[in-house]
Amino acid sequence: MRVDLHVHTYPASSCSTIVYRDLIACCRERRLGAIALTNHGDVGDNRRLEGPLAEAGTVLVHGVEISTPCGDFIVYSPDLDYLAGFKDLQAVPQAGSIADHAAIVWVHPAAGGGRSGSAFRASLTEQVAPLIDAVEVWNGNWTDTRYVAAAQRIVETLNLPATGGSDAHRADRIGRCATEIEAEVGSTADVVAAIKSGAVTPVAPPGAGRRAGHLFDLFRR
Ligand SMILES: [Zn+2]
Ligand SMILES: [Zn+2]
Repeated sequence: MRVDLHVHTYPASSCSTIVYRDLIACCRERRLGAIALTNHGDVGDNRRLEGPLAEAGTVLVHGVEISTPCGDFIVYSPDLDYLAGFKDLQAVPQAGSIADHAAIVWVHPAAGGGRSGSAFRASLTEQVAPLIDAVEVWNGNWTDTRYVAAAQRIVETLNLPATGGSDAHRADRIGRCATEIEAEVGSTADVVAAIKSGAVTPVAPPGAGRRAGHLFDLFRR
């Protein structure tokens, strides 16, 4: 099942223009089985949209994006009170401090921290390794080969699962990148389990597939 694991809505993300009716209409029109909402340190929209999206036939996958001196991370968990404890701008969580019901993904690693302004450096890979469950290889805002290749290199170095998400801040960008999940997704817990077990594959944006295939061939050699 294909799920966009990285979407921002307004007002929980002040930088997004995707309002509730946009998201609900998109899910309804495209018959999306599931979609993640990953706002910047704010789960208010997750709380408000879960019911209306369920009525549209879409499972809302709960997440929150945090920006740290080591870059940006998304924490996914079915427990909204737990997610509410994270802030848009904060310290890097301690390795081992993430709850068992949560998964944490290093998003757009090579682009650095969106709100923290931190820059990517290769030494971060080992530093962040004990914390993360997966790496976002395809992000709809960072599709240049250098970003994708750097993320893929981290995946290969750490032998971790890879995900994809649009990082949409505009309705027409939703689903530009996504994650193929091997099982049906009926809940956030299903996504957490899929990420942790590696049952996830990043989906490149339209037109980037061949380029990506070539890229991944290079790494396989
Ligand atoms: Zn970010
Ligand atoms: Zn984001």
